[in-house]
Amino acid sequence: MSLKTSSENLETQIIQNAHAPDPASGTAASSLDQNTAYAYESAEALEDVFAGRAPGYVYSRIGNPTVASFERRMAQLEDGLGAVACASGMAAISTAVMALAGAGDEIIAGNSLFGGTWSLFTQTLPRFGITTRFVESTDPDAYRRIVTDRTRLIFVETIGNPKLDVPDLAAIATVARRHGVVMVVDNTVTTPLLCRPKSLGADLVIHSASKFINGHGNAIGGVIVDCGIFDWSASRYPHLHDWHKRAGDQALLAYLRNLIRRDLGGCLAPFNAFLLGMGIESLAVRMDRHCVNADRVARFLAADPRVCEVRYPGLENHLGHRMAQRQFGGRYGALITLRLKDKEQCFRFINGLKLARNLANLGDAGTLVIHPASTFCRDLPETARRAVGVSDDLVRLSIGLEHPDDLITDLNQALEGMT
Ligand SMILES: *Cc1c(COP(=O)(O)O)cnc(C)c1O
Repeated sequence: MSLKTSSENLETQIIQNAHAPDPASGTAASSLDQNTAYAYESAEALEDVFAGRAPGYVYSRIGNPTVASFERRMAQLEDGLGAVACASGMAAISTAVMALAGAGDEIIAGNSLFGGTWSLFTQTLPRFGITTRFVESTDPDAYRRIVTDRTRLIFVETIGNPKLDVPDLAAIATVARRHGVVMVVDNTVTTPLLCRPKSLGADLVIHSASKFINGHGNAIGGVIVDCGIFDWSASRYPHLHDWHKRAGDQALLAYLRNLIRRDLGGCLAPFNAFLLGMGIESLAVRMDRHCVNADRVARFLAADPRVCEVRYPGLENHLGHRMAQRQFGGRYGALITLRLKDKEQCFRFINGLKLARNLANLGDAGTLVIHPASTFCRDLPETARRAVGVSDDLVRLSIGLEHPDDLITDLNQALEGMT
C-alpha cells in the first residue's frame, strides 16, 4: 500500500496508513505473519528472489511482512525514505554504528546519553577499534572542533535521558552537513509527535520502540529510519559506493537489510512487530496525555519545598526550555527528574509511591519511577555519571496516562512519608 503524503495531519495519517484490508480475505486488522521461511514453487523462482530479480520474502531474519509493515509505518511517522527494524533500541544503535563505522573510525556523541548507549560506545565498541569522543551535548561548536577524517557519525538524543538537556539539533546537523558526516538522532524520548529530526537536518533517526511506540510495556524493539537526505556516494563511506550504484538512494537501507542486520542477526521478531504496530495507532493521543500530565506534575513538584530541584524542559527555568519549545512545538515529553536530600530519601520516596511502579522502563501507559544511580547508571564511572546528570539524590519519573490529580495525590503522600 502506498503511503498517503497528503496534507492530512499526522494523527490521521497514522490511522489511515495502518493497514489496507487484505484483498483476498478482507482481513481488516494487521495480521501476524509468524513464519520462519517462505516456500517457492520452483528452484528458479527462489533463485530469482535471492538474486534480487523478483520481490519476495525468504527468511524472517532478513525480511518478514509483519516487520515490513512496522518499518513502513515508522518510516512514515518520521517522514523518512525507509526503515529497518531491529530486536531492540540497542540493536538498532549497534547495527547503525556497524553500518557506518569500522576499526579506526570515530563517533562524536553528546555527553548526555542513555546508559546503554554510553556503555556500548565506551566499553564494547573500543574493543572493535571504534572510539567515541564525547562533547557537551548542548554546545554545537564542541562537535565542530573535534571532527576529523575518521569521524563517521555524530550521535545525539533529542532530550538527554536522564539529564533532560536539549541539544540544538539544527546547529549540530549543520556541523555534520558541512563535514559530510552522518547525523544520527535518537528520538525515543520525544517521538515523531513532538519532533521529526529530519526537519532539523538529521540523516538517520533511531528509536527504542520498547518505550512510547509500544506504550504498553509488552515488547522490546528498535528501528533505524533513513531520512533520505544523505548522499550514500559520499567520500567518507567508500564501503557503500557499490551499494549506491545498485540501489541509489536506498543504498544504506539495502546495506542494512541485506548485509549488516542479516549478518549480525538483530532482527525484530514478527510478534513484537505486531505489538509495536498496535502501539503506533494510539501514539498521538497517548503523547498528548503524557505531556499534559507531566506538565501538571512538574509544576506541582517545582512548587514543593520538600523537593530540592525539578528538571522538566517544560518549566520556564529549565536551561533548555526555549530550545525545547522551538524544537518540540510547545510540548515537553513525559520524563521528569527530581532531586531529594539524599539516596535514602529517594528510596523512601520510591517505596512510598502507590501508583508509580518502580521499574527500568519509560514511556509506558502507567507512571514509572526509578533511582538511576543504583540501577541503569550504576555501571558508569563517576565522571560519566555526572556528565549524564545522575547523582545519588536523583529520581526519574516517566509520567503515565492516569488522572493527573491522582498522580499528584500519590506523589504528595510519598513526599509526606519521607520524613
Ligand atoms: C531505552 C532506550 C534505548 C535502548 O532501547 P532498548 O529497546 O531498551 O534496547 C536507547 N535510547 C534511549 C533514549 C532509551 O531510552
